[in-house]
Amino acid sequence: MQSGTKNAVMGVAVVAMLGFAGYRLFLRPSGKFVPPKTLTQKAVCLNCKQNVEIERSFSAQAPYKCPACDQVAAYPWFYCYDCAHRFVPKLVRIEGQPPRIPPGVRCPHCGCTNIAGYDPENPQQSPVADAKLPKWP
Ligand SMILES: [Zn+2]
Ligand SMILES: [Zn+2]
Repeated sequence: MQSGTKNAVMGVAVVAMLGFAGYRLFLRPSGKFVPPKTLTQKAVCLNCKQNVEIERSFSAQAPYKCPACDQVAAYPWFYCYDCAHRFVPKLVRIEGQPPRIPPGVRCPHCGCTNIAGYDPENPQQSPVADAKLPKWP
């Protein structure tokens, strides 16, 4: 009787361990969603003119630090649905601050507001050309 009890206790312990392993293996990745703290942003650096990928936090505002030249001069690409140009909008320049993207972005090529952030995965966005980049600095 005593060994039976011991086996039962062992059994419970094994099930508990398996359960724990199962929890770790299967539940943790999907069971508890932890939102990523950063996102990858396609950007262009106005200083070195390279297309770069920025790893940034959600709240970070352009410009971002360029991984190629280390200058804080990387801005996200936008896309104009009307003229199919990829662009960086005209920037707002305030003394003592890095130039910022204005709240009401317009396409610098055709002047319309039918624009969105550029996403290379989006099949509806196929840029025919890049609009002239803003002057830097
Ligand atoms: Zn750069
Ligand atoms: Zn346009």
